[in-house]
Amino acid sequence: MVERLPRDPQRIVRREADDVEFIVINHTAAPPITPLQTIAAAFHRRLPGILYQFFIASNGAIYQTQPMLEAVDGKVPYIARAINIGFAGEFNDDIPTPAQIESGRQLIAWLMEEYPQLTLASIRGVNEFINHTSPGEQWLQGRRWKDVLINAVRTGEAVPGDGAVPGAKGQPSAGVEMEAPGGEDGQSRQEVPDAREQPSRGERVARPQIRDISYALPRHPTLQYRRRQLAAITHIAVHHTALPPHVGPEHVAQTHVDEDLDRGKSAWSGIGYHYFIPPDGEILQTQPVELRTHHVDRHNSYAIGVAFAGSFMNGSTPTPRQIHSGARLIAWLVQEFELQLTDVLGHHEFSYNATPCPGSDWLEGKRWRDTLMAEIERVLNGIFQYHYVLFPSEESMAKTMAEAGSYFDEFKPGAGTLLEDALQARFVTLVGAGTISSAEAERRLADAGVEIDHLDDSDAISATQSLLQLAHDGRRFRSLLES
Ligand SMILES: [Zn+2]
Repeated sequence: MVERLPRDPQRIVRREADDVEFIVINHTAAPPITPLQTIAAAFHRRLPGILYQFFIASNGAIYQTQPMLEAVDGKVPYIARAINIGFAGEFNDDIPTPAQIESGRQLIAWLMEEYPQLTLASIRGVNEFINHTSPGEQWLQGRRWKDVLINAVRTGEAVPGDGAVPGAKGQPSAGVEMEAPGGEDGQSRQEVPDAREQPSRGERVARPQIRDISYALPRHPTLQYRRRQLAAITHIAVHHTALPPHVGPEHVAQTHVDEDLDRGKSAWSGIGYHYFIPPDGEILQTQPVELRTHHVDRHNSYAIGVAFAGSFMNGSTPTPRQIHSGARLIAWLVQEFELQLTDVLGHHEFSYNATPCPGSDWLEGKRWRDTLMAEIERVLNGIFQYHYVLFPSEESMAKTMAEAGSYFDEFKPGAGTLLEDALQARFVTLVGAGTISSAEAERRLADAGVEIDHLDDSDAISATQSLLQLAHDGRRFRSLLES
């Protein structure tokens, strides 16, 4: 397909196999039936050719659209250092078809064999590099098709003898170009479960919102951390940065990279922590978890490092937002790596690590370990995962729960006043949202893909009446169908 698309070969940048660091996922943001020629022509107006190395049509057909070792830009990381895959369609409301996910899975599995440096952490959306909608709002939020795709790749790897890898090794373009473009949506080439039907919420802890800044942090010009198998990961080490809370990951990365002869510290390849949580609670990925970084001496080969910005000594503890997101991150990691809560330890709880980290108030004083662990447990138990009733205040919650006890006894929804918790749920009954307007809460819930049940009115008295009526009718929701 490469030679049949518009391109200026002399302006295209050649690269080495070692330069490939990422698999970057795009959506075309065009109707799925848009011919590949049209898409390539649109790119060709501003670039030397189509951005994608591969294109996956809505029926799952895979086309190679650029040679893998040629890129349309030599500087921008998500182009120069990546294999780009374009999925036909716009995924702001919907996600790719099961046939597309299955083809994406096969293609990525095959690319990971071709380029051994690629791992699951190398799979990123365009919007994880730049401020852009591609590959659609449903990539990281809502139906989170990033999780769907990565889970498919991960599960596929675990299935031995799956002979469905596209293309003979060494001749990808011959193998992956299967059908003429622009055809109708066909049936999937093989039966795969409809990814959209799989519960990504409910029984499972949802992947929290994580912003990957790992590729942008200072790193050593020559040193490189070794890779480790994901299966080797058995523990999570909690750290504090031992710096003022506003000191961010760039500064920490630089101090980790630099040699410090006075402290007897050698130069490191890059920041030691895999995740970094600043006071505002944003979750930052600072290293791929596959890297055996330095953060807990003698235990680096199997521990993931999660750093909370701040110095938690003498009565100082992380902010509630740090606890909130840290707990969601750690609960999700515990689930993904099949760990136990007892595998989550403060840095100094690991043997041979005589350090105050993560602060004197971890096990003593304010004991923020207990706060964090209780929250992790709450998330893992999934009490808010399926259905959450969001109240405007503790007072209105107490009153409604007392008066509409039969509803809460019957359906046992989670209940509270935190929009952050509601955002983790699959269904939310919205009574009110405290400091922000119901409309604003509704917008944010809808953005996160949460389905909202509306009661008759938002004041507590009629909420009580609505809930009592629902309990009487044996229905959990007024305006939603329970699936
Ligand atoms: Zn530490």
